[in-house]
Amino acid sequence: MKRSRKIFLAAALILCGLLALAAVALMWSARGAVPVLNYHQVEPKDGNPLTLWPEQFEAQMAYLKEEGYTPVTIDEMMDACETGAPLPKKPVVITFDDGYDDNYIYAYPILKKYGFKATVFLIYDFTDTYPGYLTWQQIAEMKESGLIRFESHTMTHANLSKLTSADELRHEITDSQRLLSEKVGNEMRYIAYPGGAVNPQIEEITRSSGYRGGFTVHYGLSTPAKGPYQMDRIPIFGANMHTMSRFKLRLKYAPLIAPFEDFRLWLRAKGFAGLAAVLPIP
Ligand SMILES: [Zn+2]
Repeated sequence: MKRSRKIFLAAALILCGLLALAAVALMWSARGAVPVLNYHQVEPKDGNPLTLWPEQFEAQMAYLKEEGYTPVTIDEMMDACETGAPLPKKPVVITFDDGYDDNYIYAYPILKKYGFKATVFLIYDFTDTYPGYLTWQQIAEMKESGLIRFESHTMTHANLSKLTSADELRHEITDSQRLLSEKVGNEMRYIAYPGGAVNPQIEEITRSSGYRGGFTVHYGLSTPAKGPYQMDRIPIFGANMHTMSRFKLRLKYAPLIAPFEDFRLWLRAKGFAGLAAVLPIP
């Protein structure tokens, strides 16, 4: 073998070894973190990037069951994180944003069938107001089952990072907490920031309002390192890409895939949307 070829092979081997080490380190750093799945709509409709077909959602729930995952509440996840309270062997949190009525029509019967707990984040002004959103009656029925918990997704789904006054922020964060608590009949302990937008001021108002935690839509695992007011989730939506293999990869290898997802977001922010769209990231 030529000397140059040997050097090339040695370099390739070292690079592979380093990449494997980095992968192991990333997976290790996220050990114990609970995956929080982030859904939106579940209905037999085509072409909506937020939508999962009911059969796709059911296949994912069946997979969780077969693989021994146990859906837990956000409180159970937080208790484990803060006090070391025990969790089942493979915990997972299931969340839905926006409070669409298809959550009641299609997702809820499937969750009931598997006995899975889930959380729905409601937009106060949209709920029981606009077509396509949950009614208070449907919410009461889901809550009564003991499986579904409701939390806040603000008053109007405003991009919180675009609001400049503290009063506007308090209206979205604090008023939604109070009004939703009254309507739903349980204390709002968590918020999902619309579009995932959060900054130190939003975080501070969320904390001082008495919320126990807040969620972004950023892809990642909710690790204690990032703090309870910027918890990441695993988005299960994204324009006709809902294959089972994609779901499995996103669920199991979040720490490995998340940096690539961040790279895609960076490309988009820099104006390379076309390149970002074709990156083969699951
Ligand atoms: Zn939303």
